[in-house]
Amino acid sequence: MTSMKPVIGITTAIGEADNRGGIFRMEASYVEAVEAAGGIPILLPPSGAHAADVLALVDGLVFSGGGDIRPERYGDRELHPATYGISDLRDDFEFRLLEAAFATDVPTLAICRGIQVLNVVLGGTLYQDVSQQPTAPGEHRQPWEVGSWEKPLHAVDLVPGSLAATVLGDTQVATNSAHHQTLKEIAPGLRVVGQSADGTIEVVEAAGKRFVLGVQWHPEKMYAVHDEHARLFAALTAEATVYRAQKALGAVTAD
Ligand code: MN
Repeated sequence: MTSMKPVIGITTAIGEADNRGGIFRMEASYVEAVEAAGGIPILLPPSGAHAADVLALVDGLVFSGGGDIRPERYGDRELHPATYGISDLRDDFEFRLLEAAFATDVPTLAICRGIQVLNVVLGGTLYQDVSQQPTAPGEHRQPWEVGSWEKPLHAVDLVPGSLAATVLGDTQVATNSAHHQTLKEIAPGLRVVGQSADGTIEVVEAAGKRFVLGVQWHPEKMYAVHDEHARLFAALTAEATVYRAQKALGAVTAD
């Protein structure tokens, strides 16, 4: 008998931009958070693989953090000096995968860079740097090291009744913060359901999808210490379990 545990694909980064033959890498915390939530984690390296072939292997997805999206993808021709770590290979793979996952309604948790990929794939834009926001930004970058990243840096207010508020069990959550880019114009199909006090968009979700949630912080660094962040991964694996069962019955079809 095969396991009822859902398989959760986690996207990975490339060590050196588009240097094929280099190193694929992703922090173990993503794997550990998925495993702690009862999922079977597998790493998905950026590749030219057909998105549908990759999706056939998984029951849910985590889009992980990392370097910035090439700004041309959301219509920005000028590179802000703070924009860093662009990988066209990673962008290409993740954009194709997320577009296909969205169409097929695969449960998706999009973290940090992931929420930005989610928004841009669906037609939204980004501030290349938080300093470009019209309102004075608060602090969104804390020291990124063991002993620091599990500590909250700012609060996020959640829309009552939203999927995010339901999963997190409150209308406010204390989060870490390690991003310098933020969401600007929100894509059609997404709605903002969480913001920090300075107006920074920290959570989006997709109406009409079983589970598409984007968060600008890093719950995988907090879940072991702050239980509410573990609930994000628990909700993902619960939805992925349902999706897995439906897939086995042949009840899942693309839009
Ligand atoms: Mn933040």
